[in-house]
Amino acid sequence: MIYKIIRSIIDTINATPRQIIILALVWFFLSTSCGMMGLYSSTNFFNAIMLFFLGVAVILAVFGLAKLATWNNRGLRMTLPDGRIVVNLEHTLDVQEQDRVLLGVREQKRTFAIQYILVTPPAAGSQLVPITCSTCQRETVLRVASPQKRQEMRWRFVIFSTLGIAITIALELGVGLITNGKSDTSPISYVHFVSLLLLFISIIGFARLINYVGVTQPQVLFGHKVSHPRRVDLEKFCVPANAQVQR
Ligand SMILES: [Zn+2]
Repeated sequence: MIYKIIRSIIDTINATPRQIIILALVWFFLSTSCGMMGLYSSTNFFNAIMLFFLGVAVILAVFGLAKLATWNNRGLRMTLPDGRIVVNLEHTLDVQEQDRVLLGVREQKRTFAIQYILVTPPAAGSQLVPITCSTCQRETVLRVASPQKRQEMRWRFVIFSTLGIAITIALELGVGLITNGKSDTSPISYVHFVSLLLLFISIIGFARLINYVGVTQPQVLFGHKVSHPRRVDLEKFCVPANAQVQR
């Protein structure tokens, strides 16, 4: 148990800024859903749990944003200066279950071959770009959006998610006003589930906003995964800001 907690903390520290911010959203959802279930008003115990979730969410968000700023400063961006976008195509080689006898845990270890895919966004709309896995030669396609289309999609995620959260808050306030804060016994308490669902969908919308770089995978190719580049991957494409041109 302790090993697993430490392991996941190490994984989080090593994760990409986007993954960390998404994790912060998950903890934020856990925190807010406590309140919505009417838990935080009932006892101090749930209040403490809620604050704990919220605390973790804030720490993760600050850490993720700081990391994103550092990466951007060092030129570690998924969008290269010439407008091309880098994504990783992972070809799964092996998935192994590993027993760590001394620690008494079982870990899954996945090994994969990484291929860098550089895509050029089209001038308008979106385009299907065929790609071939260099390990197994199988083909798949990526959908690449133009910069304008990407911006449109981002706005769509922002508007729908913000609207979802606004409705959630309105529903919760409404229930609070009607029942005078004692919604536990009233049939109107089912509204909590509706607002919980809305909140969940809205948070998924924000997570998609953070994850969206204009490249999506319309088809699933078994044993393959399109992922965001890690730090080591981006360093291969990044030109340090202080690099001097040799003449
Ligand atoms: Zn492959």
